[in-house]
Amino acid sequence: MAKVLIIGAGGVGNVVAKKCAQVPAVFEEIVLASRTKEKCDKIASEIDRPITTERVDADNAGQTAALIAQHRPDLVLNVALPYQDLPIMDACLETKTDYLDTANYEPPDVAKFEYQWQWAYHDRYAKAGIMALLGSGFDPGVTNVFCAYAQKHYFDEIHTIDIVDCNAGEHGHPFATNFNPEINIREITQKGRYWEDGQWVEIEPMSVRKEIDYPEVGPRASYLLYHEELESLVKHIRGLRRIRFWMTFGEEYLTHLRVLQNVGMTRIDPVEYEGHRIIPLQFLKAVLPDPGSLGVTYQGKTSIGCLFEGVRDGRAKQMMIYNVCDHAACFREVGAQAVSYTTGVPAMIGAKMMLEGTWRGAGVFNMEQFDPDPFMEDLNRYGLPWRILEGKTLEG
Ligand code: NDP
Repeated sequence: MAKVLIIGAGGVGNVVAKKCAQVPAVFEEIVLASRTKEKCDKIASEIDRPITTERVDADNAGQTAALIAQHRPDLVLNVALPYQDLPIMDACLETKTDYLDTANYEPPDVAKFEYQWQWAYHDRYAKAGIMALLGSGFDPGVTNVFCAYAQKHYFDEIHTIDIVDCNAGEHGHPFATNFNPEINIREITQKGRYWEDGQWVEIEPMSVRKEIDYPEVGPRASYLLYHEELESLVKHIRGLRRIRFWMTFGEEYLTHLRVLQNVGMTRIDPVEYEGHRIIPLQFLKAVLPDPGSLGVTYQGKTSIGCLFEGVRDGRAKQMMIYNVCDHAACFREVGAQAVSYTTGVPAMIGAKMMLEGTWRGAGVFNMEQFDPDPFMEDLNRYGLPWRILEGKTLEG
């Protein structure tokens, strides 16, 4: 039915390629391209369908446009890094090709992520008659769809949302990140932020901590962070008064992070070292375990979901929608740990929604702007089953 170009062959790219290959009725032809072609070839060798592989530097919009022109895909699935979002969006605009990603744009020299740069493409995409779907991973992604689903079926008004993200897995390394270390450390070392009564409230990094009881995992120390889906959900959920994002971190992880920060290894400005300009955080990435390699020893589960409070038929209502994913089961299926899996599966489903015409529009969209029902059905079908807990609150 359709041809896709996947850009990025890291932990998430591996899952996306393998999950797309499992649905040949939709993903009839797959091209996998990345900066290091050998990584694409390795993934292709693990798939029992022919996959075309290519090398591309996606920082270069011209190079990506030439690759698109050569293969003429119906959709570009961007699972490279957030720095590549804008050049890949430019290449899609030039070639009039639909676009999807899992993380919003970040300028390399400032640790800051906002939708403004990508939303600014809306009119040009609309005029070109093409569609961009932003943030089709788990969080952002599935969490946005959970919110749309709660709004559609369970609430007249949602007053508060707490997105809670727990990784209760153990990979056996003293310190490792579950997705690209550079992007991950930039995200968690910046100031925390949440939205209340119409304004953003900023807090020092990791300064608000709460013990949260996660379904199928139990209580875990969780920290208030800024996360990108807050920005779009504030726009699209009716009657919202407060929205926050929480993520679990273990003591050992936080101690390592503190030391790395204190000695300057998380800096993103260039430093001179023996005649070279190096960025400490990029050097740190080079010596940390590759997140794609963690799956071999990973045990335990992720438990991620959204807690809602609001009103239905004039009465107060609380509930949670969540998914639990097992690291070892993901590894058995696609050779990846659960963080790559929970990102790659929704990227495939988002692409499927677009290619089947279930989610259509001309312009730039966030996940919660579409009907959540078909996406929720596909989560159950393709490996991320979800559940609802009525009456569940952040406190218990
Ligand atoms: P990895 O670092 O494992 O992989 C990134 C891939 O992108 C690598 O193959 C890398 O190539 C490639 N790449 C980097 N720069 C370029 C470039 N200029 N041109 C072409 N390819 C390039 O990251 P992950 O797979 O862990 O994460 C992928 C994306 O998923 C990130 O944007 C991340 O933020 C996002 N994500 C989203 C989540 C969500 O829930 N929404 C959760 C987790 C991740 P090379 O191998 O040569 O370095």
